[in-house]
Parts: sequence; C-alpha cells; structure tokens
Amino acid sequence: MARTATLNLADKLKSHLPPELADLVQAAGEIAQRQGENLYLVGGAVRDLLLGRTNLDLDLVVEGDAINLANELTRVFWSKTITHTRFGTAKVQSDKWSIDIATARSETYARPGALPTVTPGAIKDDLFRRDFTINAMAIELSPARYGQLLDLYGGRDDLERKLIRILHERSFIDDATRIWRAVRYEQRLDFTMEPVTLGLLKRDLGCLDTISGDRIRHELELALKEEYPEKAIRRAGELGVLVRVHPGLKADDWLAGKFAHARRIAPEPPPVALSLALLAYRLTIEEVEQLVAYLRLPKTVAQTLRDTLSLKTELKSLAKSGIRPGAVYALLHDFAPAAITANLVATDSSLVRERLNLYSSKLRHVRTTLTGSDLRKMGITPGIRMKELLARLLDARLNGKIKDRRGEEQLVKKWLGGRG
Ligand code: ATP
Ligand code: MG
Repeated sequence: MARTATLNLADKLKSHLPPELADLVQAAGEIAQRQGENLYLVGGAVRDLLLGRTNLDLDLVVEGDAINLANELTRVFWSKTITHTRFGTAKVQSDKWSIDIATARSETYARPGALPTVTPGAIKDDLFRRDFTINAMAIELSPARYGQLLDLYGGRDDLERKLIRILHERSFIDDATRIWRAVRYEQRLDFTMEPVTLGLLKRDLGCLDTISGDRIRHELELALKEEYPEKAIRRAGELGVLVRVHPGLKADDWLAGKFAHARRIAPEPPPVALSLALLAYRLTIEEVEQLVAYLRLPKTVAQTLRDTLSLKTELKSLAKSGIRPGAVYALLHDFAPAAITANLVATDSSLVRERLNLYSSKLRHVRTTLTGSDLRKMGITPGIRMKELLARLLDARLNGKIKDRRGEEQLVKKWLGGRG
C-alpha cells in the first residue's frame, strides 16, 4: 500500500522548524554521513510535519551509534545538556525544544506486557516496532537524500484517510499501552480507528492487565494532559478501557463538563492532580484507595484525592447560612489546594462555590500582623497557648473584628487581662 512516488519535505522542515533546530538537524545528517551512518527524523515529528501541526520534540534514529553521534553533535555544534540513558539513547535539549537520538533497533517481546528485548537493527525494523502507521514514517537526513519521506507502512495514506492503524496483528498484545495511545491520537487528531485495528483493540482489552500500574498511570496522565482530556477519557470509557483502570470510573457528560470548567479556571493546563480528583470524585473512599494503590500515585496526588473526598463530605457545613469567614477558613485550611479547586469545580451549589472561591482568592492569604515573637514580647511563652492566641487573632481578623496591629494588640491584652 505504500506509495512509490517519493515526497521531499526539505522545504517543510525549513519552514516549520525554528532556524536553529532546522540547522541542527541538517548538521546532524552531515555528521552522521561522515561517520558512514544514515540518520532519520522519525515518529511524531514526521506525522505532525505532514499535518502542519507544531511539534518541537524531535526523535532522530541513526543506523549506527547514537551516543557517539550525540557527542559529536555536542562537540562540533552545540554545548547544550546531553544525557545518556541506559537504553543507549541521548537527549540534546534547550528550553523550547528537545532532540532524542537513538540507535535504530528491532524489538521482541518475551511475553505480553514485558518491556521489549532490543537489538540494533535497520531503519525498517525500527519503524516496524512502532505503534501506528502514522507514527512509523521517517524523513531521511543524510545530505544526499535530505528531506525524503520514508513511508514503508502506508502512514501517509492513513494520515489522509484519518485512520489509526496498527502495524501487525499482535501489536496490542505485545504492548497494551498502545491501546491508550490509540485512544489519545484518535481523539487528539479527530481520526478514527481503522476497523481491523478497532476489532483487535477490543479483542486485546484484557492485555491491559499485563501492564504495570506505573505504566497505566503514565498513560492516564498523558490522556489527562491532552488539550481536551474529556474526549480521550470519554472514548476510553466507551471502549471499556477506563473500567480496566477502576470499575467505578465513569466518563460521562458530567465529567466532560467538569474538565471544561477546570480548564476555564485553572492555570493552563490544569494540573494532573486536579483532573484525577475530578475523575475520582464519584468513587467511594475505599475505591479511591484501590485506585491509589493500583496506579501507585505519588503521595501528594494521593493526598489530593483523599482530601477531595473528605472535603466533599464537609460541603454541607459550607452551605449553612450565616457561616462566618473565620469558620470557612477553619474548615478549609487543612485541605490540599487542588482538593479545594476540585470541589469548587464539582459542586452544584453556587453558595458553596462562592465560599470556596472566597477562601481561595482571599481568606487563605489573610495573616495576623502580630507574630509569635511579638506575643513573646508581650510576655506569652511559646507553646499551645500561644498557638491558640494566634488562631483566635486570625479568626477575629477574618471576621473583620479587628483591622490593624493596634486592634490586635488591644485584643490580646484584653484576653490576657481576662485571664489574669
Ligand atoms: P506526542 O505528540 O504524543 O509526543 P509522539 O509520536 O512524539 O507523539 P511519543 O510518545 O513521544 O509520541 O513517542 C515517539 C514515537 O515513539 C512515536 O511516534 C512512536 O513511533 C514510538 N512509540 C512511542 N511509544 C510507543 C509504543 N508504546 N509502541 C510503539 N511505538 C511507540
Ligand atoms: Mg513526542
């Protein structure tokens, strides 16, 4: 199915990449050639170049020694950070873009879900180990063929037909994270799954259980970091992918609305902990603990999920009439900020929303003017009593009973007088 006519993308490379990056890529091709090796741009950058989408994360593959090439590139051309990983790959990075360089390789899988066994190979093997045809194209960077598209598996046709297609029948069995990847690309690009691929995806759903919780967490995070995570999550729900993360998770209109709401109020893009908290909002606390354990969520994220649910049970008190700002503060100040935002987004009560907003935008920033050392000067010894006094002062300040340092001092004196 691959087309025979060659397509040259040299001009596109020049016009779509920042000049320094385009120069670097071209120089890399020349250096590789001097070493008698062929170099290629591969994967997402090729796909996005053909689609006209910006992508400054470049993956280069060399039929030869990647580390050597990266060192040479750094020496001749560049002095940016370069890290070598144990997989024999290297990264050249600036604050705006990054280039990964790897040795062309072929992969075999000892068992479903295992990490692959890697051996050096030719570019065609390297492309064949990839997830989808649209991600399995390469652009030649050797000077003699600079810019030529290498499309061995019909990626260009599938881009035009907007299809997500795996390269072989065992693809999802070998690596079921590709199921999540298929969902993400389909929804990000507004593509559809090619029917055979869709059938195999459904057949191989059970293979998701061969993937470690850590890797599933990574896939879920990537889905949540998409520009419109609700699309990927909804599709994952439809296909029965999401219930494999936890049977209680639902991807419905409610959740889609909440993700959109979070986007409007959170810094761009919303933190993953917030999206996860919304996803987990309708689980019970036991179910949240199962999710935390399975995905091995980091401590702070796990705490956000727990806080979100415990705050959810407190929302009734926030909805009471006449509740004073000091009480709102006392109720909320031990909760993780993302848990407060999650409830703000999730609640259907405008009164609760108003109070959560008041807390986040104003109350949580209020401080007393007097500090512990001021109280010490007034004769109070550090300890529980001092803590209580500071808390009472803050409460008075939040409730507008005092406004300045003088007022605080008078109040403390009154309390001390009352005691003495
Ligand atoms: P994105 O824009 O999401 O980063 P990308 O195509 O660059 O898209 P990466 O996850 O950065 O995706 O991976 C780079 C390339 O590596 C992919 O294009 C694909 O060719 C290959 N790849 C990544 N993960 C897998 C996988 N699980 N199985 C097979 N190939 C993969
Ligand atoms: Mg990428």
